[in-house]
Amino acid sequence: MSDWENNVRKIVPYTPGEQPKEKNIIKLNTNENPFPPSPKVDEVLKDIKYTDMRLYPDPDSTELVKAIANTYGVKPSEVFVGVGSDDVLSVAFLSFFNSEKPVLFPDITYSFYDVWAKVYGIDYVTVPLKSDLTIESRDYVRENGGIVFPNPNAPTGLLMSVGDIETIVKANPGSVVIIDEAYIDFGGTSCLSLTKKYDNLLVVQTFSKSRSMAGMRIGFAIGNEKLIKYMNDVKFSINSYTMNRVTILCGAAAVKDQQYYKDNCARIIKTREHTKKALARLGFEVPDSMANFVFVKHKTASAGEIFEELKKRGIYVRHWDKPIIKDYLRITIGTSSDMLKLLGTLEEILGKDTSQVF
Ligand SMILES: *Cc1c(COP(=O)(O)O)cnc(C)c1O
Repeated sequence: MSDWENNVRKIVPYTPGEQPKEKNIIKLNTNENPFPPSPKVDEVLKDIKYTDMRLYPDPDSTELVKAIANTYGVKPSEVFVGVGSDDVLSVAFLSFFNSEKPVLFPDITYSFYDVWAKVYGIDYVTVPLKSDLTIESRDYVRENGGIVFPNPNAPTGLLMSVGDIETIVKANPGSVVIIDEAYIDFGGTSCLSLTKKYDNLLVVQTFSKSRSMAGMRIGFAIGNEKLIKYMNDVKFSINSYTMNRVTILCGAAAVKDQQYYKDNCARIIKTREHTKKALARLGFEVPDSMANFVFVKHKTASAGEIFEELKKRGIYVRHWDKPIIKDYLRITIGTSSDMLKLLGTLEEILGKDTSQVF
């Protein structure tokens, strides 16, 4: 090791799902939306002038912030936007998790949380899920320097009620509670309404899943204006121009077109429910996911082997070779045609019949 390397901040980074280069695969590994974004986004893209790129974007992303505020019935001062919710969450970790006490999050959850905690030097403790993979709200009523988890949780897809979230927020006036609602639009009830009542609750959402805009990188947080001010202070201490011109305009157009994305979510929910039944018939245990993916475990076949067999046949799903979840596969809900191909292929691999499902 060179001398200077002793002084390097060393970190094991987060590993995102694979983005395979080959065409004609069925990609069910990173929870992208199988449908395109709102046609309003296409209109914006066609109108944009490349000469405008000469100028810096609006550092406050005013147009996008306003559109989100209008849609969710809050003030612009209660909205923070960032480059995907990963950026929003990272700024929130840096802003709010600054205590001597450890931050709490589940042992099985979004695997970026421990990476941010480590890179920012935040002490944390993971809390085990219950044996049915749900989060026990009472486990979060104890001393802590902050709380964060997704609802529905990832990668389980299991939802916590707004009542249970309120229990946690109410019991922790001394810390900020961050609820990562990346998948809330697929059938869950958002806890956004609680932000009117509690100034220590930050709700984070993304355009990447329900609004089909993972490639554009838009996330946002809603909370008390004091929380948002603290986050903006941190953001403006790192990079003023996080959101580019194109993204601000496309995001504003997308969020104004509520009906479009709601219809898509309804289609995905319907396909998910069919897929759950079909997977159960194939011998999978299927926890009741409320997200745009299912997290399933086969009663006899190994998840690692199914994963490899699917990949060989051009179908990408997600598998983690980690304790507790190594027997599970996370499968994104694609179009009904994608799911039929998946089920047919699983049938081939497992030697079962799933015809007549859709
Ligand atoms: C996908 C995801 C995110 C991040 O999404 P962005 O694309 O950065 O908006 C955050 N949290 C969870 C739980 C996710 O699954």
